[in-house]
Amino acid sequence: SSVFENVEPGHPVEMNLLIKRYMEDKNENKVNLSIGVYRTEEGKSYVLPFVKQVEKEIVNDPNLNYDYQPILGTDSFFNIATQLLLGEDSIHIRNKNAFGLQALSGTGGLRSGAEFLARIMGYTTFYYSDPSWENHPNIFNAAGFTNEKTYRYFDRKTFGLDFDGMIEDLQNAPEKAVIILQICGHNPCAVDPTKEQWMKIADVIEEKKLFPFFDAAYHGFGTGDLDEDVFPVRYFADRRIEFFCSQSFAKNFGIYNIRCGALTVFTNDPSKISAILSQMTLRIYFLYETPPACGPRIVSRILQNANLKKQWIDTLKIMTARITRMRQKFQDEMIRLKTPGKWDYITKHRGMFAFTGITPEQAEILVDKYHIYVLKCGRINICGITDENLSYVTKSIHEVVS
Ligand code: PMP
Repeated sequence: SSVFENVEPGHPVEMNLLIKRYMEDKNENKVNLSIGVYRTEEGKSYVLPFVKQVEKEIVNDPNLNYDYQPILGTDSFFNIATQLLLGEDSIHIRNKNAFGLQALSGTGGLRSGAEFLARIMGYTTFYYSDPSWENHPNIFNAAGFTNEKTYRYFDRKTFGLDFDGMIEDLQNAPEKAVIILQICGHNPCAVDPTKEQWMKIADVIEEKKLFPFFDAAYHGFGTGDLDEDVFPVRYFADRRIEFFCSQSFAKNFGIYNIRCGALTVFTNDPSKISAILSQMTLRIYFLYETPPACGPRIVSRILQNANLKKQWIDTLKIMTARITRMRQKFQDEMIRLKTPGKWDYITKHRGMFAFTGITPEQAEILVDKYHIYVLKCGRINICGITDENLSYVTKSIHEVVS
């Protein structure tokens, strides 16, 4: 007998299953369009060249050791992370309205922030976009939120933003509801609000006393311009609307498995910083005690060195340019093939993804029969497409959708 005899399996994690199946798949035509990871022209994982160089320096630095880090990370790291978000000479940082702490990548930033909001602030309701990254509700529910809601976001007829629907849903949200807002390169639908729309979103959030929680997972991949991509965060700060923002360095530094991120808090009351930090310290202590040091060492060395920082910014531009190029080629090919569905929006969308309108059944056929790994929601990762596999991918989608 076993104490575990009543344990039933939980629901599968679609992405995890697809990664495993892809790795075991021996078919030479296999293409992975599922996971949100940047791929090169050759369809390979990409290690940013200066990241390995900096990692070597760290390994060889006699002054660095493997002692525990402080629970909230080191000042040199999270100051840099907050500066990246709000600007190097941000008045909000100088006035101590904004401060950061280290997080276990973007997921950890969301989880620690949500823990604080649920357990210390007593917030119960959260809203995420329909559709959104599937883990948003899991993270907030696990952190103690009890009331899960969505706001309208993607308009399945126009393949654009259902802005009126979004505003209406936010207007009907109860006071103190936490609103998860992806800043750019929206996962999964690749549609972001315009600056004017962000301004209206801010109006409603302020008027209805909602709490914005920004998710900056794809910073740099929206427009290719780091400052443009963080527009909503800086705009809310300038309007003194208090918020949290979780930053991931997984995608923009290509360090997915190092788990490096930050959580920035913006408050109108700097006198509460020490209380907030103290409660955050406890939340993180209870979750995983202290954070890892490798990612922050890499990120801060790059961002503190003007030459390396420039290389990083240029590399981000090269990566986004490749995605833009593949968007165009993919769109042209789908239109040329006269594939049923709407395809002319692909180049209007931003970030790594395209929301294709592929149904769950069609996604299953693409995986089973064509070895093209696509999420059931129809999201594809544009950088999984290369010049070499473009024709195979587009023809296969055409056959399955027609
Ligand atoms: N937010 C969004 C929208 C994401 O797509 C992801 C990664 N899939 C994350 C947050 C978390 O990223 P990570 O924990 O790898 O930094």
